[in-house]
Amino acid sequence: MINVAVLGASGRMGTHVVDAVTAADDLQVVAALDVTDDIAEAARAGAQVAVDFTVPDATEANVHALIDAGLHAVVGTTGWTRDSLGRVEEHLRERPDLGVLIAPNFAIGAVLAMRFAAMAAPYFESAEVVELHHPKKVDAPSGTAVHTAQGIAAARAAAGLAPSPDATTHDPGGARGADIDGVHVHAVRLRGMVAHEEVLFGNEGEAFTIRTDSFDRVSFMPGVLLGVRQVGLHTGLTVGLDQYMSL
Ligand code: NAP
Repeated sequence: MINVAVLGASGRMGTHVVDAVTAADDLQVVAALDVTDDIAEAARAGAQVAVDFTVPDATEANVHALIDAGLHAVVGTTGWTRDSLGRVEEHLRERPDLGVLIAPNFAIGAVLAMRFAAMAAPYFESAEVVELHHPKKVDAPSGTAVHTAQGIAAARAAAGLAPSPDATTHDPGGARGADIDGVHVHAVRLRGMVAHEEVLFGNEGEAFTIRTDSFDRVSFMPGVLLGVRQVGLHTGLTVGLDQYMSL
């Protein structure tokens, strides 16, 4: 039995995590914490693993507090940067027995889409990413879209590809979207959406599209539970659930 603390337990994702962990035979929720609760409470309750679905402004401090408290962490909150990831990696050197998984997306389809996008990237002249989310999402572009774009950019660089062709010289309204390592990312906020992503590739006379849709937050739960079960076996910082999936 793995004892689990949930941070952001009354949020949209946290509520599902509490339900999914409670329903699993090999896991149990020992602490359900929210913004006013002290993280030390998770350790006092005997938690071995904490799951964080809070807000971008809080998640880094939460992870450092969890490391100090001696807990493994499974993090779904977005907003991480290379700098904040680096600080967690550095902190973990003091606790080589602990694992932290930070996953921009726990939906299995989205994880596969990121991997397939990196595989496809060397073979196409053009690549762009479109992410579509519910209008309550506070950050843009989504962590998944950033991760996808970075994977595409790294694969393009490794293959020695030139930048995607683009004759745009005049774009006062930012219609070409965000530039993530040379890959354009477009964020749509639309009532009725949950979490969706399209990766568009183009060559002369050819287009290739990878699309993933999470219609319901329950789609993230198999990935979260996989993370909770495996994080103790992967010490140090891991970014991306694919690292746990033997892909
Ligand atoms: P949400 O409904 O706003 O839930 C966040 C919860 O965290 C709220 O209950 C909030 O409480 C609480 N909270 C805020 N600061 C906290 C702190 N310092 N300690 C503990 N709890 C705190 O948001 P959500 O839709 O569940 O999404 C949460 C995060 O997960 C977002 O960053 C979102 O982008 C991300 N996400 C990731 C995935 C993935 O697969 N990786 C999937 C979906 C969402 P108050 O409301 O009282 O402030």
